[in-house]
Amino acid sequence: MKTKVRTIEQTRFEQITKIERSRLRKKLRNNPENKGEKVRTIKRSDQIKFAQLCATGTIDEIIAGLPMLDNGKTAASTWGWGVERFRQFLITGVPCTDVFNLKGNSKLPFACFSTLPGVTCPGAGECLSLMYCYSFKAHRYPGAFFAQCQNTVLLRFNKELVKHEFLKLQAGIEVRLYVDGDINSIETLSFWFGLCNFRTDLKIYGYSKSWDIFLQWEDKGLRFPSNYILNLSSGSKYGDAYKKRMTSLSCTRGEFIAIDTKGDKSRAAITREAKAQGLGKVFPCPGDCGNCTSDGHACGSERFNGVTIAIGIH
Ligand code: SF4
Repeated sequence: MKTKVRTIEQTRFEQITKIERSRLRKKLRNNPENKGEKVRTIKRSDQIKFAQLCATGTIDEIIAGLPMLDNGKTAASTWGWGVERFRQFLITGVPCTDVFNLKGNSKLPFACFSTLPGVTCPGAGECLSLMYCYSFKAHRYPGAFFAQCQNTVLLRFNKELVKHEFLKLQAGIEVRLYVDGDINSIETLSFWFGLCNFRTDLKIYGYSKSWDIFLQWEDKGLRFPSNYILNLSSGSKYGDAYKKRMTSLSCTRGEFIAIDTKGDKSRAAITREAKAQGLGKVFPCPGDCGNCTSDGHACGSERFNGVTIAIGIH
């Protein structure tokens, strides 16, 4: 009989989610509104089912799927609260939360757009199969989960609204396209590139594993916007031949890879591990985009063209 091998990533992911789930249960139990009641924890499998509905179902089917995420609570930030806000969005078409997250913080001080991870990532490889994609961590929070659901639905049914929000962005700012999720079709790529060309004052950057879609664009002889910078993130299902072609695209800055630093969080550990793995010189990601270098952030800078940026998985 074939033995199932558990990878370090799988074990670590499960440990993280167990700890997080127990913290969340404790927090919910301590909420005065939930006192004395058994808190219904939302199942991961139901989140996945609902995410798939958002990516492929009709509006009626998505509404019909909402009860699986409803824990009957109405207090802010509970699943019941999130379900009701999202239901109203599906019925009225009025967003239940910002399409672009403009709040930012020193770690990510940009206007950010996200969709649901997994179901909008056609190029996902081991990041999904080994479940080390960090985007799923945000699914502990109903607000973050439904924000991703909302944008996934908007890109399918109301791109005009996304366009409207994009055109409203403040002049000259940096925009990150896809913190969570990815470009899921050539239509989506075409939509974003049209907007990039319209707002040349914006500095737009992102990470993608949807290499097949970018290469389809290239094969059609279409141009990449001059204000869009792409980082090739690791974990893609495509092999070296794709990577080689992707590296030569005019929009590609370089690779952004994840390295197992075996528990050591320091940048020196990233440099050391990269060397040990024969990856040569890398720029170790400081994990703080707002203070990444003295002159802007590496992932969105042409000064870093061709430089592999590495982040530590610890
Ligand atoms: S290298 Fe800099 S810009 Fe890129 S993710 Fe890390 S901190 Fe952010």
